[in-house]
Amino acid sequence: MSEQHRERSVTFNAGSGFYRPKSRIVRDLGILAAAVYRAEKGELRVLDGMSATGVRSLRYWQESGADWVTVNEGNPDLLSTLRDNLRELLPNYGQVSSLPVHRLCLEKSLAGDRHDLVDIDAFGSGSAFVQDALEVTKIGGLMYLTSTDGRTYSGREPQKALRQYGAYVRSHPAVQEQGLRLLLGTLQQQAAQRNLGIEPIFSFFWGDTCRVMARLVKKTQLTEENYGWLGYCHHCGNYALPPWRKLSQSSCVHDEQPLTLSGALWLGTLHDTEFLGKMLALAKTWAWSDVTERLEIMIAENLLPPYFFPLKEIGYRAKIDLPPRDRLITTLQEKGFQASRTHIQAEAIKTNATMGELEAIATELSKP
Ligand SMILES: [Zn+2]
Repeated sequence: MSEQHRERSVTFNAGSGFYRPKSRIVRDLGILAAAVYRAEKGELRVLDGMSATGVRSLRYWQESGADWVTVNEGNPDLLSTLRDNLRELLPNYGQVSSLPVHRLCLEKSLAGDRHDLVDIDAFGSGSAFVQDALEVTKIGGLMYLTSTDGRTYSGREPQKALRQYGAYVRSHPAVQEQGLRLLLGTLQQQAAQRNLGIEPIFSFFWGDTCRVMARLVKKTQLTEENYGWLGYCHHCGNYALPPWRKLSQSSCVHDEQPLTLSGALWLGTLHDTEFLGKMLALAKTWAWSDVTERLEIMIAENLLPPYFFPLKEIGYRAKIDLPPRDRLITTLQEKGFQASRTHIQAEAIKTNATMGELEAIATELSKP
């Protein structure tokens, strides 16, 4: 007999399936967003494309109040475990299938069956399922997608990023955020091909993987300001956002050195602050304290530039020990800069100050 697991309000069997307790917070965020959506729209039909043990489906139903869950797991060996875990949900509140995701989405699309929330928790780049998600999500509905391919977003395999995302990305100190922006960028661009748009609800980096929750909207959102290029100067450690029309002249404004360019990426906000506020209120009601802490950081970071500075990098360049994060943030704010933590890395900050300004302030703080 396989082990019984408990996650938040649900109990289930993992069987021969894959269950990672550490990803609980990723599911928590999805459940919160779905619950906020259910409260706003009065209905919630979920498609869980890669269900594995069914823990997410079960939680969408039990915790978010889903009216219906389309549960799919491509591996037929998991079906009996899945059916067993979902016995209270079936057949009145959901259906189970074992199809490749592309086939499932094609069938749903041909039948005109669109869902309020589409969750495809895949391995790999995630871009393979963007078209599928766009096919089966309602206008106004949400899509929850995953990318687990660190080698691609970190700039170690730029040719692979080119194939998967149509973007060429390079290495710099904020590549984890680049992973989120790659996935959002391809989602936005492919929605734009259909004369639609997406609005990020939240973007979450956790344990080397990127998750994005985005709303599908009727109006195209892609512009040359929110979809473009991130430059990094390996010489002085500053970032830059060269506009499309000035790409040929892009060099670092601080030292005129050539910029390492990554793009095209989503450069707009990672989250919807108002929506995060509603998720936060709910998380507080449910006493999900580790989630509330994350959500607070995500709200704080949302309006800052599309990159971050690791403390290690600041310390290395200033030739000092690791600067104290919270004092650095407060000092920057006192001096009139924007500054916050980032949910992506504990030992890093987001700010609109330059590396030179950061080095000077960190050096000042390091004096006894
Ligand atoms: Zn420079």
